[in-house]
Amino acid sequence: MRLLIVEDSETLAKGLKTTLKTAGFAVDIAHDGALGLNLLKVQQYDLLILDLGLPKIDGMDLLRHLRLTNKTIPVLIISARDELDQRIKGLDLGADDYLCKPFILKEVTARVRALLRRSHHTLDTVINQGRLSLNTHTRSLKLDNRSIELHRRELSVLEYLLTHTDRVVSKEQIAEHICSFDDDINPVAIETYVSRLRKKLDGALKLKTVRGL
Ligand code: CA
Repeated sequence: MRLLIVEDSETLAKGLKTTLKTAGFAVDIAHDGALGLNLLKVQQYDLLILDLGLPKIDGMDLLRHLRLTNKTIPVLIISARDELDQRIKGLDLGADDYLCKPFILKEVTARVRALLRRSHHTLDTVINQGRLSLNTHTRSLKLDNRSIELHRRELSVLEYLLTHTDRVVSKEQIAEHICSFDDDINPVAIETYVSRLRKKLDGALKLKTVRGL
C-alpha cells in the first residue's frame, strides 16, 4: 500500500516515513500543500496523512480540492490545531480521522491500518484466502498453517492481489501501489514477483494472467 504524507516539518515527516516503511508501506512525502495536491493528481495513493498548517496551500484547502475529485481516499489529519472547531471542520470536509500533535508514531501506524481496513471493507488484520492466511500487521504468511518466507516486495504484491481479487489489475497498478518514488521499480519486475509467488504458493492461489492487460 502506498501512502502520501503532506507535512512541512521535515523531522516529523521523516520520522513518520521511517515508521510506516518499517510497517511495510511505500511512502512519499510532500513538504507543502501545492506539491501534495499535484502528487495526488498524478499518483494513486491508498491513504493520505495531512498536516493542516502548510505552506503554499493550507491543509483544509487541499482537502476541499481533493474531495471534489477523489471522494474515497482515506485521509488522516495530523495537526497541532487541537481546537474542537478545527477537528469538526476537517471531518466535515471529508477527513476520516484526526490525530493531535504531539502523538506517538506507533499510534499513527495503528490508525493508518484501521483506516485502510475500513476502506477495504475488512475488519481483520488477517486476510484468509483458501489455504492462505496473510497477517498484514506482522507481515507474515501462512500456507496450511505453515509459515512461508517471502521477500518484502513479494509480500506487498500478494497483499495487493488479495485485496483486489474482484478485478484484473495491471503490472503498472501493482507497481504504483507498492513503491514510492525513491524506490521506484520497473513494472516488468512485477512479473518476476508474480512468478516467484506462483512457485512459493504451490497452487494455493490461482493467479491468472490476462494477455494485454
Ligand atoms: Ca505544519
